[in-house]
Amino acid sequence: MLKGKKILLTVGPTREYLDPVRFITNESSGKMGFAIAEELIKEGAELIIVSGPVAIQTKVSEDCIKKVTTALEMYEVCQKHFKEIDIAIFTAAVADYRPKHPATSKIKKDGDNAIVEFIKNPDIAAEFGEIKLPHQISVGFALETDNVIENAQTKLTKKGFDMIVINSPNVGEGFGYDTNKVSIISKGQAIQDYPIKSKIEVAKDIVAKIKLLVE
Ligand code: C5P
Repeated sequence: MLKGKKILLTVGPTREYLDPVRFITNESSGKMGFAIAEELIKEGAELIIVSGPVAIQTKVSEDCIKKVTTALEMYEVCQKHFKEIDIAIFTAAVADYRPKHPATSKIKKDGDNAIVEFIKNPDIAAEFGEIKLPHQISVGFALETDNVIENAQTKLTKKGFDMIVINSPNVGEGFGYDTNKVSIISKGQAIQDYPIKSKIEVAKDIVAKIKLLVE
């Protein structure tokens, strides 16, 4: 039962600024995250959605969406809710690194090469994994190309996930598309492969699996 459960959901990409007008980001559209959000609302869950910059139409009420831009902002907002939530679902494609010294004014073309030093962003899911209480459930996502099961199992343990959804990196599936092909590993269970489906159908499969963890 998800009725009344407080669920934190990270969604979309993050932007990491090099200067006031330039940033590094990724292809995440937020479609998968918001499809999951819509399914969770149907189940009566109470959502806190922390969303990076996305441009999608959603039926989800603005009231439960906290808009952020950078990984650090996403981390700060999420952290505030770690203690009060029952479930965390980390769908966001958080940038692993950010420029160490973002320029305060527009960087000028100067010379043939430009070198940017990066530092690591906090791993939001891993931080939650560290402090999570026995009744709290954590769900992660992974995009794996090689040694899929092994890498996903390692991530499941390392980040304290109870369940991990493996996305396909193939064309027509995953980032930006309306369809996705996933495999799911729940803690202590064998991998379950699903066929390619619309993100709405995939969201239903993911929510059904989460319900099994809660019951
Ligand atoms: O290590 P990797 O980026 O593949 O892990 C993906 C999972 O970890 C996703 O669930 C993603 O939302 C989460 N993550 C995070 N904070 C980061 C990096 C990844 O919450 N800085």
